[in-house]
Amino acid sequence: MRAVSKVYFTKDISQAATLFDLAGLDKLISPNDSVALKIHFGEPGNTAYLKPERVMPVFEKITALGGKPFFTDCNTLYKGPRGKTKEHLQTAKDHGYANVTIPEENDCEQVEVRLKHFRNIFLGGTARTKTIVALTHFKGHELTGFGGTLKNLGMGFATRLGKLKQHQDCKACAELKACKKNLTIEACWIGSSTIVQEKMVEYAFGALKGKKAGFINFITDVSPNCDCFAHNGPPVVPDIGVLASTDPVALDQASIDLVNQAAGRDVLRELYPEADWSVQLIYAESLGLGSRGYELVVI
Ligand code: SF4
Repeated sequence: MRAVSKVYFTKDISQAATLFDLAGLDKLISPNDSVALKIHFGEPGNTAYLKPERVMPVFEKITALGGKPFFTDCNTLYKGPRGKTKEHLQTAKDHGYANVTIPEENDCEQVEVRLKHFRNIFLGGTARTKTIVALTHFKGHELTGFGGTLKNLGMGFATRLGKLKQHQDCKACAELKACKKNLTIEACWIGSSTIVQEKMVEYAFGALKGKKAGFINFITDVSPNCDCFAHNGPPVVPDIGVLASTDPVALDQASIDLVNQAAGRDVLRELYPEADWSVQLIYAESLGLGSRGYELVVI
C-alpha cells in the first residue's frame, strides 16, 4: 500500500514561516549550521519569479532558530544573464535578494548515484550544505510539464555540465560516432521530455543524498513557462497559496493537483501535450524520494 505524507497548505501566502513549523522543517535546523535555501532568482525581465518578501519570513525563522541561511542557485546552461556567477549575483541583487552564493563552474560536487541514466552527477558546490530548504515557485514548464521542487533541486542544483547531461539525448543520434561536441557544452541540448524528467529526478536524488531537507512550494503567478524566460505569460490559474512538506514528491503531487482543480482540467498537459508531468513524480517515487500519496492539511 502506498505511504501517505502530510502536505501543509494555506491560501495565505504571508504564512510560509507558520507552515515551516507545522510541517516540522524547524526540526531540521541545528544552531550554527549553514542552511542552503535553493531558489530560482528569475531571469531579468521575468516578473513571475519568487519575490524576496514571500520567502524572507522563512529566512528569518531559520535565523531565529540559530541556523545560518543563505540563498543559492547554480548557473544556467544557456548563455545569458544567469550563465555566469558575477552576472547571476547581479540578477539576484536586482530582484531584491541579499545573502546569495552562486558557485562557479569549477566549484563542483560529484555525487555517486548509480541509477538508470547516471552513475555520477555534478552539482554546484553549495549542494554540499548538509541542510537544504528548497523554496520553489511552482509553474508550468515547456519541457517537463511543470517546474516544482524536483526540478528546483535536480536541474537547479546542477552545474552547467550537469544541466547539459540532463538535456542532451545523443544516444539515438546518427551523428554520435562522428560527433565531437556531444560531451561539451556545445552539444544539442533538447532531449525527450521523459528522459529529461528522469535525469532531473536522478539529480534531485543526488542533491538530497545524506541531507536534512525540507520543501516549500509557492503556487503564485503560475506562469505557463519557466522563470528562465525574460518574460512570462498570464497565469494559468489565479494564485492558490503556499505548501510545505518534508516529502518533495507529495508536495509536487499536491501542487499539480491544486492547479488542476483550480483550472477544472489538466491545464499544463493541455499546454504541453508532449510533456507528461507525471513521469517525474512516478520516477521519483520509484527511487524512494517520497510518496505520491498525501494528506493535505489545510491551515
Ligand atoms: S551533440 Fe547533437 S549532433 Fe552530437 S551526438 Fe548529440 S544530438 Fe547528435
